[in-house]
Amino acid sequence: MNKKKYKYIYGPVPSWRLGSSLGIDPVSKGKKICSFDCIYCQIGKIGLLTDERGIFINCKDIIEELDSLPPLKIDYITFSGAGEPSLADNLGEMIRAIKKIRREKIAVITNSSLLHREDVRKDLQLADFVIAKFDAPTQEILTTINQPIETVNFEHIISGIKMFKEMYKGKLALQIMFVEQNKGCAQDIAQIAKEINPDEVQINTPLRPCRVKPLPESEVDKIESYFKGLKTISVYKAERKEISPLSDEETLKRRGKV
Ligand code: SF4
Repeated sequence: MNKKKYKYIYGPVPSWRLGSSLGIDPVSKGKKICSFDCIYCQIGKIGLLTDERGIFINCKDIIEELDSLPPLKIDYITFSGAGEPSLADNLGEMIRAIKKIRREKIAVITNSSLLHREDVRKDLQLADFVIAKFDAPTQEILTTINQPIETVNFEHIISGIKMFKEMYKGKLALQIMFVEQNKGCAQDIAQIAKEINPDEVQINTPLRPCRVKPLPESEVDKIESYFKGLKTISVYKAERKEISPLSDEETLKRRGKV
């Protein structure tokens, strides 16, 4: 195994959504920085709850780490990590810089809370695959499940995803985490998903260690049936590749396993 310590890069990890993926964290420095504090978050306690964009990590530091990687066979370089990647004001700069030195496709996993902002949509437009979180059909459920900073508005999330879908040329997936608190409104969520009409819907339930229990496969199967007419993948059924991470400890930490 490679003994080098990476501060901003983790994985590669097998991903049911992305095949094999090398993760990049463009915001956190050892603490979770996010506009949400989801009840199912695997990362743990929030370090900074914010919806203000800022420069958290310099682009050159991430490029230096990428330059020092051993040869890897991966499908995607993915912006995710311990927080919300679109909070990074230099996300667009990072995507452009990575595209100059790597051939892999670039994915961004976002909680969608900033998609109503034009500058955020412009940055995400540079990615090949955007996975947008969408767990709630009302402000009330959003507050219960995602526990956002109070300035985050449910209507802005829906309109932001729709505006992004209109302008975006890459692949757009909705990722929906189903737990006890939103399973009863799965049909409403499916209806909004049909209005958005993404390329894919990822039906998820928290299988990694966290504060809430996952739904059983039978309930997830039933929920998946509400999305008929859209392409769906389910966390219980998707295939996973066999992959060795660069650093076991760092990768497990970011997946909530230490
Ligand atoms: S959006 Fe992601 S990082 Fe932020 S609290 Fe929710 S699960 Fe955790």
